[in-house]
Amino acid sequence: MTGKRRDPRAERQARLIAGGERKRFALGAVPQPAGRPRRDPRSLRRAATVPGGVRPRIDWHGGARMAARPGPDARPQSQPEIRITADPAFLVLAVADHPGGALSEHDRETIGAARSLADAGGGAVAVLTSGTVEGLAEAGADRVLSVPAGHIGDYDPEARTAAVLAAIDLLKPRHVLFPESAEGGADLARRVAALSGERLFGGVASLSADAASRRMRGGAMEMAAAPPRLMSIAENAFAAHDGVRHEARALDAPAFAPVRRIGTVTPLAIEAGTLSLADADFILSGGNGVTDWAAFAELGRVLGATLGGSRVVCDEGHLPRDRQVGASGSLVTARCYLAFGIAGAPQHLQGITEVRHVVAINTDLHAEMIKRADLAIIADAQAVMPALVAHAKERRDA
Ligand SMILES: Cc1cc2nc3c(=O)[nH]c(=O)nc-3n(C[C@H](O)[C@H](O)[C@H](O)COP(=O)(O)OP(=O)(O)OC[C@H]3O[C@@H](n4cnc5c(N)ncnc54)[C@H](O)[C@@H]3O)c2cc1C
Repeated sequence: MTGKRRDPRAERQARLIAGGERKRFALGAVPQPAGRPRRDPRSLRRAATVPGGVRPRIDWHGGARMAARPGPDARPQSQPEIRITADPAFLVLAVADHPGGALSEHDRETIGAARSLADAGGGAVAVLTSGTVEGLAEAGADRVLSVPAGHIGDYDPEARTAAVLAAIDLLKPRHVLFPESAEGGADLARRVAALSGERLFGGVASLSADAASRRMRGGAMEMAAAPPRLMSIAENAFAAHDGVRHEARALDAPAFAPVRRIGTVTPLAIEAGTLSLADADFILSGGNGVTDWAAFAELGRVLGATLGGSRVVCDEGHLPRDRQVGASGSLVTARCYLAFGIAGAPQHLQGITEVRHVVAINTDLHAEMIKRADLAIIADAQAVMPALVAHAKERRDA
């Protein structure tokens, strides 16, 4: 028993009104003994009741639980910790693909691998070849070197190669890591290796200061070696850094002059609707809560999203079968999944386990999809869709 014992005599004494011939006692709350405040289930339930609706609905995730304990405001505000490596003994570069001006998951994993090598007294440096990106401190970068070799989205491998070689020349790193990716990292790593005359250890799946290894023959064999300077990191082999933030201090960019044998090529824009769900980065998905399919299609067009849906809507013919997301449909890895009117059945949620951000729109506060979502809108899908279309058009025109 951890609670304090009640003392009825002391409580009665506390209620006693002084004066008068007969003893009189005040009604109302008994003064609480010092210590932990008592829970009041009735007021907690009142605070958790969602206003409106015919039947009373309780949301235990909201204010009620918070009311039971002191809110975050009651605690002293602490600044997030930032780890600063003032004078690293050596440097490990992580060359990011940053497609579309944002870090990819594979970029985070590559910076995470650089972080694990640098934790032995070194510094991890994220190298960017176009523009700047957010989230480098959270990804574990001590330094950031931006060597602009073109605009975001340009395909200019020669300029990127020259930029990375200039970065290597400037910083003299112990290791340089690239994501082994089709976004450009794998190609860039081989170009840098060819021009520098150094050996590249490609597709590294495990790494320490003494050994790097990769899988061969479909995973049946493993090849290990002492880690050379140039390595490319296999996808999904390393965890992204999820610990404390690092400094991500910007370094001065080196001068470099790319030798161009081919012109800059700009990739063709792909019609999002023609992408397979497995390849899509941004998916607009509809469930049984969607009734206005014209508004749904228009929203997909305006946002440039790939369309998907639950099994129910595919069964009913609102979307073709190859658009079904879930255990018996496609498993998706999109960066953003916008779910309109989808309950979040286990079979559906199995299809979106790899999705980075889920936004759910549902009238039911207790839907499983709302629990899975990073951002939820409790509203009618039919009202939200045209509002989003208008907002997106407004933003585009502005
Ligand atoms: C073997 C097996 C395999 C399956 N595989 C899959 C699969 O791969 N993929 C899949 O999706 N399902 C699959 N299912 C089906 C799954 O169990 C669910 O039945 C299905 O996912 C439910 O689809 P839903 O969420 O669109 O519909 P519902 O369950 O009907 O949910 C509709 C949701 O919309 C909300 N809503 C209602 N009106 C509105 C409104 N106006 N605005 C906003 N929200 C509203 C409701 O609150 C509810 O949450 C499978 C089932 C089985 C048995």
